[in-house]
Amino acid sequence: MECFICSKRIEKGYLCKDHANKLYEKLKNREGKIESPTWKNHCSICGEHENRTIIEYPPHGYFCDKDIIEEWNRCK
Ligand SMILES: [Zn+2]
Ligand SMILES: [Zn+2]
Repeated sequence: MECFICSKRIEKGYLCKDHANKLYEKLKNREGKIESPTWKNHCSICGEHENRTIIEYPPHGYFCDKDIIEEWNRCK
């Protein structure tokens, strides 16, 4: 597997530890939060946008709270 953001090789999951932490910080601070996500803001990992908190991480796209929290829990 590789990190969706930096393509660093990782054993499992979708984000390296650095990026899991970075996105978790943004989620916690509501930084880059999309107010009313549409399909255009779908999560780069799972493709969902409904019933999720979507965080924009330019230029890498959008990531949902579910994946961010899962990756953060896996990496911590
Ligand atoms: Zn990374
Ligand atoms: Zn997702």
